[in-house]
Amino acid sequence: MYKAKAYSAASATSPLTSTRIERRDPTEHDVQIEILFCGICHSDLHTVRNEWSSVMPTVYPCVPGHEIVGRIAKVGSAVTKFKPGDLAAVGCMVDSDGTCPQCQEGLEQFCPKMTLTYNSPDKHLGGVTYGGYSESVVVDERFVLRVPSNLDIAGAAPLLCAGITTYSPMRRFGVTKGKKVGVVGLGGLGHMGVKFARAFGAHVAVFTTSPGKKEDAFRLGADEVVLSRNADEMRKHAGSFDFILDAVSADHDINAYLNLLRRDGNLTLVGAPEKPLAVSAFGLLFGRRSLSGSIIGGIPETQEMLDFCGAHNITADVEVIPIQKVNEAYERLLQSDVKYRFSIDMASLKSK
Ligand SMILES: [Zn+2]
Ligand SMILES: [Zn+2]
Repeated sequence: MYKAKAYSAASATSPLTSTRIERRDPTEHDVQIEILFCGICHSDLHTVRNEWSSVMPTVYPCVPGHEIVGRIAKVGSAVTKFKPGDLAAVGCMVDSDGTCPQCQEGLEQFCPKMTLTYNSPDKHLGGVTYGGYSESVVVDERFVLRVPSNLDIAGAAPLLCAGITTYSPMRRFGVTKGKKVGVVGLGGLGHMGVKFARAFGAHVAVFTTSPGKKEDAFRLGADEVVLSRNADEMRKHAGSFDFILDAVSADHDINAYLNLLRRDGNLTLVGAPEKPLAVSAFGLLFGRRSLSGSIIGGIPETQEMLDFCGAHNITADVEVIPIQKVNEAYERLLQSDVKYRFSIDMASLKSK
């Protein structure tokens, strides 16, 4: 074992503060990564504040962070995919059983024995796993991704959660050239959805409640922007969308969007509103439409997404912060005051 600098929360009401945590020495299948950047995902905040206590109660101290990009420092003797000096990334998962039907299909995110990057039982050291708000992390090479060398690494970090979360359902529902795609909500997830839909060649419409986001939506690649509170504007698009990505985590009326789908169109939820959403059966019956959910993606698809980003030079729009500003960033996240993701520069951890 070795000690690594990190930022952790001691309780649901404590700020994140500087600490040292234990990391395992790499086993033969592990790589040790020196973390360069870690994105801030809304899940980090929910977990730190124990807001998902009914599903995944938080164990303290909590070190969040699952949008990790870094450089390989050490590799175990049986590691074949990586060598010291390589750029590498880790997302929301660090382990799974590797044998169940989900794992066999490369859908490790649904493995019943999947280990999350943080706040999940740690098979090696006991306690829980610690995430990317740290100077280093040790991960089984099966869960380590390659990062195309042309990408800006600060902006690449959020691809590991926000990126794959929006890429995966678009691939699954066949977003390609000639399709009409809607993206509801222009935040950390939504802005990635716009970039991917555009890169797939689709016609992209962004739905927003704030007229102030119009210009940015166009800059990110939208072909049109629809103010969702304007019923006339919404009506013009009735029955016309092949696919809608709904990235809103606040309570909202999804029936208004279901009615915009064409026959066999799909609306996929990637946000997680706290309360159940009301769904009108008629919106689904007429047009044989479907409503789905989606969560991150498996390891093979995550690599595919990173390679796609390399080929199309796609990264998240980030505001880079030093780790000392992380608590302030959480407050700003609650106000949606970020365009569009915070990325922590881990060099700042060394300066302390
Ligand atoms: Zn996340
Ligand atoms: Zn499995």
